[in-house]
This record gives sequence, C-alpha cells and structure tokens, in this order.
Amino acid sequence: MASRSFWLQQALSTKYDMLPSLQGDLKTDICIVGGGFTGLWTAINIKQFDPSIGVVILEKDICGGGASGRNGGFCMTWMSKAISLLKITGGQEGVRLLRESENAVKDIGQFCLDHKIDCQFRLDGWIWTASNDPQIDAWQETIDKLDKLGLNPYELLDDNQLSAMTGSTLHKGGVFEKGVATVQPGMLARGLRRVASDLGVRIFENTGMLELVRQTSPGVVTKNGRVRAESIVLALNAWAHELPEFRRTVLPISATVIATKPVPEKLDSLGMTGCTAVSDSRFLVNFYRPTIDGRLVWGIGGGTIPFAGRLGTRFDNLIQQKATVASALRRFCPTLKDTEVEYSWSGPATRTSNGLPMFGSLPGAERIIFGHGYVGNGVGPSYLGGKILAAIALDQKNEWSESPLVNGPIGRRLPPEPFRFIGGKLVRAASIRVDQAHDKNTKPARLDSFLASLGPSSLTPRNSVPNSKR
Ligand SMILES: Cc1cc2nc3c(=O)[nH]c(=O)nc-3n(C[C@H](O)[C@H](O)[C@H](O)COP(=O)(O)OP(=O)(O)OC[C@H]3O[C@@H](n4cnc5c(N)ncnc54)[C@H](O)[C@@H]3O)c2cc1C
Repeated sequence: MASRSFWLQQALSTKYDMLPSLQGDLKTDICIVGGGFTGLWTAINIKQFDPSIGVVILEKDICGGGASGRNGGFCMTWMSKAISLLKITGGQEGVRLLRESENAVKDIGQFCLDHKIDCQFRLDGWIWTASNDPQIDAWQETIDKLDKLGLNPYELLDDNQLSAMTGSTLHKGGVFEKGVATVQPGMLARGLRRVASDLGVRIFENTGMLELVRQTSPGVVTKNGRVRAESIVLALNAWAHELPEFRRTVLPISATVIATKPVPEKLDSLGMTGCTAVSDSRFLVNFYRPTIDGRLVWGIGGGTIPFAGRLGTRFDNLIQQKATVASALRRFCPTLKDTEVEYSWSGPATRTSNGLPMFGSLPGAERIIFGHGYVGNGVGPSYLGGKILAAIALDQKNEWSESPLVNGPIGRRLPPEPFRFIGGKLVRAASIRVDQAHDKNTKPARLDSFLASLGPSSLTPRNSVPNSKR
C-alpha cells in the first residue's frame, strides 16, 4: 500500500471504506483508469451529462492515493502559465481557457458546497515570490502579456505586505493573485469519489491495469478480471510514463511535503492568519500554506526521476528529502525552528516540455483517450481536464473536445534511456547549483546555467527568471 499523506490520513480517519476490487469480466460504455481528480471529474461530467451511460473507474490503490491526495492543496488558475498557454492555443482560445481556469477554482468551491464535500476550500489567494535577487520580476513577462489582454489578476506587493502575508522576511519581491484557493486535497478526492459513486459510477479500488488492449474494441486487463469498453480514458498522470506511448513526453518528478504540528498562535504572530498559498520562482520550487487547524504545510518540487519508465511506488517514501524540506521551512520562518514536523510524504508530479497538460487519443487507437501532465498545477486545472476528457469520450463536438490542448504540439521530446535518466540527474544537480549561486548573489557557472536551461518547464515559467539564463 502506498504511503499516506497527512491529508489522506485525516480524510480516512473519519471514514475508510476501500471499495472492492474487480473480480471477473464486465462490459461498459466508458472505462476510466486512474481515480485521481482527473478520472473522478471525468466520470462525474459524463454521468451529469447522461446518467444512463455506463462508467467504470479502475484505481490501483484508493481514489486519491496518487498525486491528488498528496499535493500541497494549492487550487490554482492557469494565469501563471499564460505565456505557454497563449502560444499553444492562440489568442482567443487562450483567453477563454485562462478565464475558464479562473472559473474552475470558483466552480470547485461551489461544487463542494452543493455536494457537502468538506474539503476546507479557502479562497485566500496565492503569492508568487522571488526568494533571491535574480528571481525578482520572474512574473513580469507574464503580467505584461496579461495586461495587454486586460486579464492581469496580479497585484504587486510592497515589502511590508510581502513579509506580513508570507510570514517570512526572506522574500525579495512578490505578486498576489486573489482568485487562487487552498483545499484539503485528500478530503476533496474522497468527496469526489462519494459523489461519483452516488451518480452511479462503478468504482473498483485496489484494481491496477496490468495490460491495455489497444484494439478497435479496447479493453483493460487487471489481476482478476477484464473490462471491455467503447472508450477508455487513461487518467494516470505521472504513471502514464509507464506506457511506452508517453515515455518521452511526460516526466514524473517527485515532490516532498511536510506538515508541522498545529501552531496557530505562531502562524498568527507571523501574519499567516488565513490559508494563503505561497511559492517562489526557483527550479526546486518551495511551496507552502497554512491549514485551517494552524499547521504549516511546506513542500519542495523537482526531486527524483524514474529510470526506464518504472515508476511503481518509487516516489512514495522519500524520507531522506524530509530534512531538506524542514530546513527550508526553518530558513524562511526561523521562529518555527523548534516546531515539530509531524508528517512527511512524497509523490509523483509531472513535467512536460511546455509546462501544460496534454490530452488526446492514442495514435491508431482513437477510442483510447488520455489526459495528464499538469506540471505541479493540477488541482484546479484537472476540473477542466475532466470536461475535456468527458467531451472526447462522449464524442461531443464542442470547445472542450476541439480545444488546441487536444492532440496539440508535443514540443521537445525527452531523450531515450539511459540518456534521459543520466541527463535528468545532471540537469537537476546543475539547477540546484544555479539556485544556490543565486541565493549567494553570485554568478552561476556557465555550464550549470546551460544544463539548467535544458530542463522541462516547472510550476512557474523558467525562462522568466532574469539573469539566470534558465
Ligand atoms: C507532492 C506533490 C505536491 C503537489 N502540489 C500541488 C499543488 O499544491 N497544487 C496543484 O495544483 N498541484 C499540485 N501537485 C500536482 C497535482 O497533485 C496533480 O497535478 C493532480 O493531482 C493530478 O491529478 P490526476 O488525477 O491527473 O493524477 P493522480 O492523482 O496521480 O491520479 C492518477 C491515479 O492513477 C492511478 N494509477 C496509476 N497506475 C495505475 C494502473 N496501472 N491502474 C489503475 N490505476 C493506476 C494512481 O494510483 C492514481 O490514483 C502536486 C503533486 C505532488 C506529487
């Protein structure tokens, strides 16, 4: 069984019922593989459109056991990714998707209210910061672009606002986007599972896909059964990398998260009175947010990568990363240096070359549909992913199925093994050295800057860090 995040332990402590695994063969209209946010939103969309359509979800662990129940709980828009999004989708469609990504955050909040999902949804905003001098203005190119379109949601923070709102004096600059929320992601995933079940989706947990049948009548083979379906939706996110079709387009990369004991008075005294999300602009991004019970949850992205497509449970327990994350928390918030870290966990996030998710059908197997690659920003956008995948699975011709994100440009492919693994390690090590040089306000080695520039996109645009040549 995968290691459980604090979020899932909290969500499961109230009610834990693992749904039975698939035993025997069945036929259905649409079979979704993967019970994270993408799979669950897709299933809910299909059932809401037409309750008579048969929908099955196969989940190898429990719903939310993947990245969906392990993330930082930032429920973001696509505004910080505007440059890539507009480049790929074009002006008009890009603007529509940016607006939809803002609506998605609000819609998730409303959906949770309507369906009594108590996932601690708080619309307290996000601060995009610079935690060293070369990161200052990392957001400027994005803001200039959004300004021209009349869409800029970012407010520049002065030094006092910045330290008061982030709880740290280490940030050198920052902008605030008020339309971002935080959630308790484990409770959101388990709540969506309940709603999907109530809508008639048949969910099998502890049921991994062992083989994908890529024929005109597609199917999925599991340990004790087989599902035949008109359409199959692969909602595997990082685990898509295990399929040969996606090995060179989506890179799983671990992130590690810790949660302190509840220290509400200490957070209040630092100015962290709400649940505002904060992240900086480095390659190994720091991201943190308070919880409603006064814990500080802190994560660092850009960790380990898998070798030769083998992901498995490799990213579940990277406890050696816990010390690195705890030391970042203490460096940014020295008054929390004696605060006990109660939980730590890791999970697989994804990187794609353009920093955006990809959707489409497998070449030569049109009825096998996929959606993955949210690059550290999937809690909000997977709501849109669910609309896109449902529209394709239902054969609808609309703005979702015909979005340029569907079968869009793949961008630079990852190299084959062993170059991907060795190259990935070199790029990561160089990126760490570039971040460290920037922290000391020294110039990174030219080779390091070059290697770091080869890495795939991160949470925020990499090329926008001035002087860094990343
Ligand atoms: C530590 C961490 C922190 C993050 N922080 C944030 C954040 O704060 N904000 C944000 O927006 N995004 C964040 N992300 C990314 C975000 O969590 C993901 O983009 C999002 O959860 C993707 O949802 P998904 O349903 O596509 O993938 P997942 O939730 O990973 O779902 C895929 C599912 O497929 C299942 N599966 C895999 N293989 C098989 C198989 N063979 N058969 C059946 N099932 C299978 C897995 O068990 C899993 O449940 C973070 C990710 C990590 C790892």
